[in-house]
Amino acid sequence: MAKMEVKTSLLDNMIGVGDMVLLEPLNEETFINNLKKRFDHNEIYTYIGSVVISVNPYRSLPIYSPEKVEDYRNRNFYELSPHIFALSDEAYRSLRDQDKDQCILITGESGAGKTEASKLVMSYVAAVCGKGAEVNQVKEQLLQSNPVLEAFGNAKTVRNDNSSRFGKYMDIEFDFKGDPLGGVISNFAAVVVRSGVPAGGAWNHVRHQQPICVCDSTDKLKLERDFSRYNYLSLDSAKVNGVDDAANFRTVRNAMQIVGFMDHEAESVLEVVAAVLKLGNIEFKPESRVNGLDESKIKDKNELKEICELTGIDQSVLERAFSFRTVEAKQEKVSTTLNVAQEGQACQGSDPGLVSAELHPGVRNVTVMGRGVSDNSFEQFIINYCNEKLQQIFIELTLKEEQEEYIREDIEWTHIDYFNNAIICDLIENNTNGILAMLDEECLRPGTVTDETFLEKLNQVCATHQHFESRMSKSSRFLNDTSLPHSCFRIQHYAGKVLYQVEGFVDKNNDLLYRDLSQAMWKASHTLIKSLFPEGNPAKINLKRPPTAGSQFKASVATLMKNLQTKNPNYIRCIKPNDKKAAHIFTESLVCHQIRYLGLLENVRVRRAGYAFRQAYEPCLERYKMLCKQTWPHWKGPARSGVEVLFNELEIPMEEYSFGRSKIFIRNPRTLFTLEDLRKQR
Ligand code: ADP
Ligand code: MG
Repeated sequence: MAKMEVKTSLLDNMIGVGDMVLLEPLNEETFINNLKKRFDHNEIYTYIGSVVISVNPYRSLPIYSPEKVEDYRNRNFYELSPHIFALSDEAYRSLRDQDKDQCILITGESGAGKTEASKLVMSYVAAVCGKGAEVNQVKEQLLQSNPVLEAFGNAKTVRNDNSSRFGKYMDIEFDFKGDPLGGVISNFAAVVVRSGVPAGGAWNHVRHQQPICVCDSTDKLKLERDFSRYNYLSLDSAKVNGVDDAANFRTVRNAMQIVGFMDHEAESVLEVVAAVLKLGNIEFKPESRVNGLDESKIKDKNELKEICELTGIDQSVLERAFSFRTVEAKQEKVSTTLNVAQEGQACQGSDPGLVSAELHPGVRNVTVMGRGVSDNSFEQFIINYCNEKLQQIFIELTLKEEQEEYIREDIEWTHIDYFNNAIICDLIENNTNGILAMLDEECLRPGTVTDETFLEKLNQVCATHQHFESRMSKSSRFLNDTSLPHSCFRIQHYAGKVLYQVEGFVDKNNDLLYRDLSQAMWKASHTLIKSLFPEGNPAKINLKRPPTAGSQFKASVATLMKNLQTKNPNYIRCIKPNDKKAAHIFTESLVCHQIRYLGLLENVRVRRAGYAFRQAYEPCLERYKMLCKQTWPHWKGPARSGVEVLFNELEIPMEEYSFGRSKIFIRNPRTLFTLEDLRKQR
């Protein structure tokens, strides 16, 4: 984490404080007031040390011009107001000059401005990184990756017309000169959950697939012009006013080309999308069987036939896969039939959700992976787990960095009062008794497994955990807590308490393709589809079982954490100021919620780490030497002794500061403001 020090010169024309570590007193109210004050004055960026808080202005501000880029590129950033470009520059510079891998973590709720922020970072890097045809190509690819990712990863939601339903992980490689070589963009942690039945939540990639219907000019995909014919597209939510689908489609196609999809690859992707749309229209009819088991049959085989043509899957193979399910009972394989509900699941589970494209000039590699996301308890649980981990690693890395600086500066380590959320992460992810492990265990257990048996198990194992609450077990401490329904458990997250409905946990965790289906898909002659179902390869069948949704997610979180640990992380925290997507409105309650959720106050506390402010001796002396006869106008001698003389003469209490090797450390922002006031009085 590049340590951006609080620059005193920032205090000169500052609206509120430009860095939250200078807030005094520090509490939720002062924090929000400071953000609001700055927001009202068009200052949407505020630091917490090196962290950038960004409040979505919902209107375009004249702060991203090429001139601004030049400002942040050429001038010392402390002469300028807090800005996302300052962070981008810092990250880019330490990458180029110190050869430190960087990663930029952008968090915030839907509509808070994450995608915009990533665009801004990329445009900045693109603008400053150098010239040459290859460089330009990668720049274009980076900037154009957004329309592609958005086309396949986004959905219209109530909160945001264009909300990214997945975490993006973008990796940009640079050579030693600081020119980009290429990049990898992949989805991160797509929650693997079926969706598709409108009642249970609209399929989420709806909007951007409409244009395909409009634009399938060659008719190769055999799509209906009238997109409302498709279940996945006919939902109310799919229509976004004022959006030109045809133009969007061309943008996406064009972007795919720039990003490096070959024509046949792009076509392949569209074929998959078309097949998915058709899949959504397949209907099943129940058919009773003699032995009492339900079996279902496909009502109208026309769609099925077209799917098979598009994908090169043998129709009888696919049909069988939709109707039967092989259950592994001990060593034998038993084929059972699927009832209508299961069949619907099998079908919807196969929605290919996300696109990840590798951006290497010359090397093209496209995969479509993951599945959809919809809003409910298991997903929320998973998302909150991810937030919990991000908070943990943030604290860990910040403290580590502080510790290192204290050692470097020979300053005694001071106790920092903050909440360590490792205990909550453990409750969720511990391999032996964590909630995810319990869920996996329950999902694999023979016998009748339901969400309730899972909750019972949680009660046995987690009931005494400080951050776990539930009402079901007899000995429960929460028996009289009527706000806690029987079918729920509650976790006290770092950001607050969250109630989770267990309904669906077992199913969603198990939400894997039935093996028969993945085997059918693997047999497709369509190479893209085949590559999406490697688990369908019979040669790999000895894999005991495909991993559950929870364990897949845990693994991708672990990968992300590892990445963050090996790279130098930079943080952008995005905040949505109102629910109306409107400019100039700052709804305090809404912002308050996000500040808690993002753990921002905790961030400030950890950042301050005992000393709110530190500054190298030279600039410190330069700024305040006018306050002391002995140092004014010229101090002959080391800057450090000059500062010593200065602080002595001003009678600043000894316990308020420490002298490090190269910097002065000041405990409380008040001391700094006293100095500033004295300066103004001169
Ligand atoms: P998220 O990715 O967090 O869901 P977006 O980045 O898509 O949110 O932002 C939602 C909308 O808010 C954007 O389409 C844009 O209109 C507006 N917006 C976000 N950030 C900015 C910004 N820095 N300046 C102007 N408008 C912004
Ligand atoms: Mg987004």
